Parts: sequence; structure tokens; C-alpha cells
Amino acid sequence: MQRKENGVQRVLIDASTLDKRITELAAQVDSWYLDSTPILVGVLNGAAVFMTELMQAMAIPVQVDFMAVSSYGSSTESSGVVQILKDLSTSIEGQDILVVEDIVDSGLTLQYLLDVLARRNPRSIRVVAMLRKVKPGAIAVPVDLVGFEIPDEFVIGFGLDYAGQFRNLPYIGILSPEAIMAKPGR
Ligand code: 5GP
Repeated sequence: MQRKENGVQRVLIDASTLDKRITELAAQVDSWYLDSTPILVGVLNGAAVFMTELMQAMAIPVQVDFMAVSSYGSSTESSGVVQILKDLSTSIEGQDILVVEDIVDSGLTLQYLLDVLARRNPRSIRVVAMLRKVKPGAIAVPVDLVGFEIPDEFVIGFGLDYAGQFRNLPYIGILSPEAIMAKPGR
């Protein structure tokens, strides 16, 4: 039985289901790069846990870098404004890039990121996202591999936060309405 914290309405994807799916994703990603060493670009902070699990499940050599972008502030709705808070530490020109995203919601953050990265002339860009929301009106941004399609609800855990908390839950849970209400300043 999965431990459930205060603030979690219900467990959506448990730890062992995540683990199994990440093993499958890793095998698929390995097969894309048999002749190269890709740079995995993790999108902080949300993708940190997924990135760590994914790269450990992969068999091929990889390099790792991170970017931090902000699109939500501390709300549960996209503000529509994307900002680079931390950039890559190396050049990606001529390199194979795998963007490792936590969740694609409106698609806005990913679209912005792909535009930024494409202008730096990498050899290829692919995207793996742990979660993608099934959502009318989302941007049709290309994602090569998706761990789980999920309903349009605000999720937390496995790297995903609400107002800076819940990232360390070992599963994906749905945030309870009470936890949203309880946030100061709303
Ligand atoms: P988008 O730009 O696709 O609307 O949102 C992408 C970013 O918003 C994600 O990388 C993530 O940081 C955040 N986000 C979107 N949906 C959720 C959600 O359900 N829970 C959490 N914790 N963050 C989300």
C-alpha cells in the first residue's frame, strides 16, 4: 500500500508503475543513440527526479546538463510567460540533444525551450516527457516519447511541486483542493 501524504487527494501513478515505465523509456532512448553520446538536457526543477532515474536505467554513455525555466511562478495555472532562470553550461552545436521534461501541460514551456535550443544548431533534438496532460487547446508541440498520458488535473510528486513542496514523494499524486485553498496568498 502506497503511503499518502496530507495534501494528496489520491495516488495517480505508484512508484513501481513509474519504475517499470522508466525502464521501458530508457530502452527506447538507448535505441535512438547507438552511434552517438547524446546530451540529456534536464528541465529543472521538476525533471530532476525523472532525469536521475532515466539516465540510470540507460545503458549507453550520455552527457548531462540542466536548464531551469519558469512558467508558473507558484500557481497551478500557466502564466504564459517563460523565463530562462539557468542556462546550459556547454555548447550544444553539432550534438544530439535529448530534452528530458517532467510534464507537458499547455506545451508552452516546451515550445519555447525547443525554439531556444534549435537556434543553437544541435545535430538533433528529441524530447522525452514523463507526463503529458490530455488537454483541449494544448499546443501541438512534438514529444517523441511520453511516459504517461494523464487527465487535466494538477499533479505533484516524483519531482513535481506545488508551491515548492511535495517534490520528494516517490509517486505521482493529485493535489487535493484543500491544499490549494490552504496556500497563503490565494
Ligand atoms: P506548460 O508550459 O506545458 O503549460 O507547463 C509546463 C511546466 O509547468 C512543467 O514543466 C511543470 O513545471 C509545470 N506544470 C504543468 N502542469 C503541472 C502539474 O500538473 N503539476 C505540477 N507540479 N507542475 C506542472
